[in-house]
Amino acid sequence: MAQILAPSPKCQMGAPKHSFITSPAASSRLWSSVVLKQNKQSGKLKYSSKFRVLAVQSDDSTVNRLEGLLNLDTKPYTDKIIAEYIWIGGSGIDLRSKSRTIEKPVEHPSELPKWNYDGSSTGQAPGEDSEVILYPQAIFRDPFRGGNNILVICDCYTPAGEPIPTNKRARAAEIFGDKKVVGEIPWFGIEQEYTLLQQNVKWPLGWPVGAFPGPQGPYYCGVGADKSWGRDISDAHYKACLYAGINISGTNGEVMPGQWEFQVGPSVGIEAGDHIWCARYLLERITEQAGVVLTLDPKPIEGDWNGAGCHTNYSTKSMREDGGYEVIKKAILNLSLRHKEHISAYGEGNERRLTGKHETASIDTFSWGVANRGCSIRVGRDTEKKGKGYLEDRRPASNMDPYVVTSLLAETTLLWEPTLEAEALAAQKLALNV
Ligand code: ADP
Ligand code: MN
Ligand code: MN
Ligand code: MN
Repeated sequence: MAQILAPSPKCQMGAPKHSFITSPAASSRLWSSVVLKQNKQSGKLKYSSKFRVLAVQSDDSTVNRLEGLLNLDTKPYTDKIIAEYIWIGGSGIDLRSKSRTIEKPVEHPSELPKWNYDGSSTGQAPGEDSEVILYPQAIFRDPFRGGNNILVICDCYTPAGEPIPTNKRARAAEIFGDKKVVGEIPWFGIEQEYTLLQQNVKWPLGWPVGAFPGPQGPYYCGVGADKSWGRDISDAHYKACLYAGINISGTNGEVMPGQWEFQVGPSVGIEAGDHIWCARYLLERITEQAGVVLTLDPKPIEGDWNGAGCHTNYSTKSMREDGGYEVIKKAILNLSLRHKEHISAYGEGNERRLTGKHETASIDTFSWGVANRGCSIRVGRDTEKKGKGYLEDRRPASNMDPYVVTSLLAETTLLWEPTLEAEALAAQKLALNV
């Protein structure tokens, strides 16, 4: 079973007083030796109150006993597995989950039963008619429980079978089920940026409490104790994603210290949304274990600090084939004409991020360019050179809903058509000869 590790407090945080991190150990054996050392030094367990498994103060034997149980391999004794049903809560960005026993291992979500939850506790149903039904839609291996246990991405319906308002997956699945969209095999590569905060003060990881680090510059893809904070979380998450079966393609430290990015894709159609949501779930669980708070706020710190986005790289079959650059330009033209609709669907608080500074374009104007990171849409040098490839929509905020963003991109570029006049005007304005 995969063991998720928390970062060591000493190297993650400058100030030990504000250290909140948990197990410094790579295995129970190592953990015991750390505990022994701590005991010898001070006569009491320094880390114990912060160690998640130890909800209450206790001696180290309890640590070992709980670890032993958490790591128990149930396979030799029962076919039964644990399925963690995951869904999106009432804010549209919060994740919820609960567990149930399934009789035997499964390979496809259709083998799983529907389930329900109390929607009045998640802001998704009134108290007098509180039942919301979970439909299993995608399954992943569970890196926390290991074995045949699974994570199940669900979407939410009323008992009558109607998608509830916060269920954005149902509409997205409809768009991705459209024949025209299916035929174009839409690929999405999503760059999920996120910020880690110190649990008690809600201030970025690695930042001196109540003060600021040195200006941005050394942190992007940086290494070293004075340039990088939270690498263990990023790395634990990377492996957990690979284990789970998420199509993760890379990670990097970001421009603002305490901020990271992972990329998922290219993934086809609705899968992009399922994978990003599952990857976000894993990140919430890992940061929970580490005692670090995850935020997807698009501009966690005001001022001269980068915001957090969710750049969405997109291509269709026609864009990837010879002559694709013309198709990309036509897609950009359509996107320019629906800028407002896209912006309003690209995440709450994005106006604080899309200022025209810090590698963003202004929220009010649509722009595109080759290799230009100050544009709404960027086309890579490689795509221009080869005459085919993909475009990058740089507008989505880190808290966007990938079901909404990916399906809207497909809809605007594959199903929607502007009037001829609007098209001609926009082509002139954007210098797009299509
Ligand atoms: P950036 O240079 O903007 O930081 P990244 O390397 O972080 O870009 O992310 C690029 C993403 O685009 C990756 O997830 C990659 O898989 C994805 N990608 C690559 N080719 C395509 C394509 N043809 N269509 C859609 N996505 C693609
Ligand atoms: Mn990137
Ligand atoms: Mn980035
Ligand atoms: Mn990017």
